Amino acid sequence: HAKQRGGNCYQFFNAPMNENAIQRLVLESQVRHAIRNEQVEVFYQPKMEIATGHISGIEALARIRDEYGQFISPSQFIPLCEDTGLIIPLSEQVLRQACRDMRNLLALQGSPRSVAINLSARQFTQSSLALFIEQVLQEEQMHPRHIEFEITEGMVMSDPERAIAMLENLADMGVQLALDDFGTGYSSLSYLKRFPMHTLKIDKEFIDDITFDERDRKMVESIIGMAHNLGLKVVAEGVEQKAQLDILRRLQCEYIQGYYFAKPMSAEALIEFIAKQQLAYS
Ligand code: C2E
Ligand code: MG
Ligand code: MG
Ligand code: MG
Repeated sequence: HAKQRGGNCYQFFNAPMNENAIQRLVLESQVRHAIRNEQVEVFYQPKMEIATGHISGIEALARIRDEYGQFISPSQFIPLCEDTGLIIPLSEQVLRQACRDMRNLLALQGSPRSVAINLSARQFTQSSLALFIEQVLQEEQMHPRHIEFEITEGMVMSDPERAIAMLENLADMGVQLALDDFGTGYSSLSYLKRFPMHTLKIDKEFIDDITFDERDRKMVESIIGMAHNLGLKVVAEGVEQKAQLDILRRLQCEYIQGYYFAKPMSAEALIEFIAKQQLAYS
């Protein structure tokens, strides 16, 4: 139709598509380049134990820079990596780097006990995943008790029976397991009790308004109650204010993660952060 109406229309309808396609190609080449040259960086965001104020653990978050040194957002490159299969080499680099950084941290006073690594949907379809992880941990000389894996509801709900088997393989290895972004996906509570999980992370979406939205507060209260009934510890994600922390403490949430306590940071910055926390508590 556009063609019949004349050349300008033709261009009008096609130009935005081309631009998106080009942007995607540029992004893909940047990401490929970073992976090939092992320039994927890993930042770490501390989690705080509410009862003590101590760093309980850290979460590894992948970082890739463009040619100007600016960070590309994971919300852009993670989906692209999922689509193209680049997520497999990216994840291996993140896991190995996290093991190496964690080994250094464990030597420090006040070190976090574990580092959490996000698993992707595509990794979760590989039946060799547990074996692969076991091999990497052995090569990097990292004890599984210092490693936690975060998976999302979507990953487990598409084929729950298979997911349970996958998670059992991982849990048997001695790693910790957390259900990430809880509340944003489709979850069946009846299945939740069959997953060999240790921790539930309540998504930021539910935390954002708890200081003024009674319904969100009630929702978070029930999620925490349900998690505790299932023997799970709870992390609240995306905590940005003291007032949110105070409510979460009252609701018996065990841990918080969010800008209020700390933003994601480089391994070097984290070492300083740990030292400062140690000073504050000694
Ligand atoms: P996620 O696993 O839920 O990680 C939490 C995200 O929330 C991180 O974004 C973190 O920087 C951000 N965040 C934490 N606290 C706050 C806060 O108080 N306020 C706000 N506004 N944001 C906060 P990031 O690093 O951009 O990562 C986004 C997502 O990308 C992650 O969500 C995760 O799903 C994915 N991702 C990141 N690194 C990896 C990776 O190595 N592998 C895989 N498979 N996925 C990854
Ligand atoms: Mg996560
Ligand atoms: Mg999350
Ligand atoms: Mg989230």
